[in-house]
Amino acid sequence: MTADPEAALAREARRLLEAEAAAGFNDSSIPGGLSRWIAGQGQHAGSLTRLSQYSRLRPRTREDLARAVLADLGTSHAGPSRGRDADQPVTVLPGVGPTAEKRLAALDIRTVSNLLHHRPRRYIDHSSVVPIAEAEPGREVTIIGDVVEIRARPARSGRVRVVEAAIADKTGQILAVWFNQVYLAKTLRGRRNVAFAGRVESAAYDRQLTSPEYELDVHRMVHAGRLVPVYPLTRGLSQRQLRRWMSLAVDDYAASVPETLSAAQRQAHGLPDVATAIRNLHFPVDAVAQAAAARRFAFAELLVYQLAILRRRQTWRESQPGRPVQIHRDALAAFGGQLPFKLTDGQRVAVTDVLNDLRRDRPMSRLLQGDVGSGKTVVAAGALHAIVGDGWQGAIMAPTEVLAEQHAATLRELLTPLGVRVELVTGSVPAGEKRRIWRDVERGDVHVVVGTQAIIQRSARFARLNLAVVDEQHRFGVQQRGEIRAKGYNPHLLAMSATPIPRTLALTVYGDLDISALRELPGGRRPVKTSFVPNHRRGDAYAFIRRQVESGRQAFIVFPIIEDSESLNARSATEEHKRLTRGAFADLADAVGLLHGRMSATAKERVMRSFRDGEIRILVSTSVIEVGIDVPNASVIVIEGAERFGLAQLHQLRGRVGRGEHQSYCLLMSETTDATENARLRTLQTVHDGFTLAERDLELRGPGDVIGTRQSGALGFRFASVTDLSTIQSARRHAEALVNADPELADPEHRSLSAAVARLLTRNEWN
Ligand code: ADP
Ligand code: MG
Repeated sequence: MTADPEAALAREARRLLEAEAAAGFNDSSIPGGLSRWIAGQGQHAGSLTRLSQYSRLRPRTREDLARAVLADLGTSHAGPSRGRDADQPVTVLPGVGPTAEKRLAALDIRTVSNLLHHRPRRYIDHSSVVPIAEAEPGREVTIIGDVVEIRARPARSGRVRVVEAAIADKTGQILAVWFNQVYLAKTLRGRRNVAFAGRVESAAYDRQLTSPEYELDVHRMVHAGRLVPVYPLTRGLSQRQLRRWMSLAVDDYAASVPETLSAAQRQAHGLPDVATAIRNLHFPVDAVAQAAAARRFAFAELLVYQLAILRRRQTWRESQPGRPVQIHRDALAAFGGQLPFKLTDGQRVAVTDVLNDLRRDRPMSRLLQGDVGSGKTVVAAGALHAIVGDGWQGAIMAPTEVLAEQHAATLRELLTPLGVRVELVTGSVPAGEKRRIWRDVERGDVHVVVGTQAIIQRSARFARLNLAVVDEQHRFGVQQRGEIRAKGYNPHLLAMSATPIPRTLALTVYGDLDISALRELPGGRRPVKTSFVPNHRRGDAYAFIRRQVESGRQAFIVFPIIEDSESLNARSATEEHKRLTRGAFADLADAVGLLHGRMSATAKERVMRSFRDGEIRILVSTSVIEVGIDVPNASVIVIEGAERFGLAQLHQLRGRVGRGEHQSYCLLMSETTDATENARLRTLQTVHDGFTLAERDLELRGPGDVIGTRQSGALGFRFASVTDLSTIQSARRHAEALVNADPELADPEHRSLSAAVARLLTRNEWN
């Protein structure tokens, strides 16, 4: 018995090929055929992978191939070539010189391993190899024949040059035609046994292949006779070049790409080993093998991602222990007792989650998510009250001054009667007063500081800061979390967001946060009545706004922004404001305000304030209002150009109304007549649950919409999909099991996995 699997495989291959020779190369040496057999051999197959074409070839060609492989096996002492180091630069591949190196670098391909992980965009099915006589018009086929005649001539139309070839095998003849590829006449002249792949057309006198792919070496089918990969390219690279290099790389290096999944993990999920997966990613035996390869890479990617998340969370916990909070029961009762309402079930669960976190000696990292109006502030107030009761200080940060002022008012109402001192520090607070407040904060006399995120910068001035609440942070990224932590104090952290996060994203982008969700609105709140308004009824919408304003309410007219195009939207909001104040609302012109992201911070705050105070009755705006405004008197929101936006974002916008006791309305205007698009918008008429809408967005529009393009790009997934909940969950489970068994991934079996995790953690987006 030998332990060398490659030598064993070589022996087995020789035995099978000799059996083939004896039986007339009819592919009977092993049930299922030689192609299937070799495909199942995984990383030890080496140069034997050439046999993966075997079953498809005609007996004569099989014979050539079998003899070639047998000859190799006879001369090579090591059996099939052993893997070499795939981390070498791509220039180790024959034919890849400095120019090619530069072009490949544009695709982020620097090493052979990078090349092997370059994912085909799609595959062309040229796997049906037929005798010429059976090449029926309309079919995609590969034929193998001799070039009996070939010539280049000008086309009748003039400018184009045409190459025409007659291809023949024993069964018949077919015409092949190419345009503007005169060199082909030279490449192919007099060649025998060439494979041509393409769709058969019927021409005037004959059947014809137009611009077929060709393959000169039918023993190593790369461009024809199989599922042929089609790659993302860059200027100066051709599919043929890339395929040729890929084929060399697969043959010589696939076996040396480190395996990140153990045999047990692969078995549990029915996944191929890495060498097999690489081979079937580029030159798949069939579609089933290709799909299995893609599944393997997706799973491995997610596993590494989850391990990185767990690792980072671990590092945080260990490097920066938190300070546990003693929660006093009577204080808790006092807080509940003086609330003007009963907590919803969701709020009660969320408060419990938070208090449990605060009791621990590692800092809380919790995200509280819930639709606008679901009552997140009360949860924050409960937490702040609890820590103050144990002698600590807290901070709550909002994205705008107006919102900070609102929080200060709410928190004072809830907490001042309980002896908690709440202070507001924003740009609008006079400098002298601010100085006094910070002095008192330093002394520990102020218990809760409310402000914008500028507070982070001042957090070092707290005497005993132990809870930071960050409000409306739906794009609360890894970086910002790190920034707060980096201030040294390492307080417990509660982020609040009205953007519902689909479960898949909760496990990936937000995978290192614990999450609490408020899924119901406090009792008695009526959902915002939403209607889709066709363009020709815009006048009706304006009339409706007018009636609401006349009965004392306020209204928004919104032009939501597309990321990165704020200037464009600022212009359309500005123009629309002009149009409305001269036209439909000319008589109310003084009460129509304008708000957009291009305005200075102070100008924005001024407008928001005067809307809050009721001086502005109609606010024309871009989607900057998404997070900035909370006005219970506002009862209508008109959203223009709604078709350009995700459902969750539209839902957020409509959450700006319906915050008070008045029945509120959302009118969606769309510029498109596309029925599917408008049907998508109509879901808002019936669906009022942000989570459902976010899940639908993720399916329809991908993650960019839900978490921002930058963050979804930072995920860097090439194979994994952020909508594939079951794979994400199973990767998470596996990651947890692995870390439990081997926290440092120190086991030699986990070496390459551990290296992959380290590589991910050192990428920019993670730091
Ligand atoms: P959001 O989650 O959007 O931040 P808020 O915390 O601003 O929501 O709460 C919205 C409104 O609902 C506030 O006026 C608040 O007083 C009220 N509210 C919160 N919880 C309850 C409750 N359990 N019962 C009744 N009203 C509540
Ligand atoms: Mg809020």
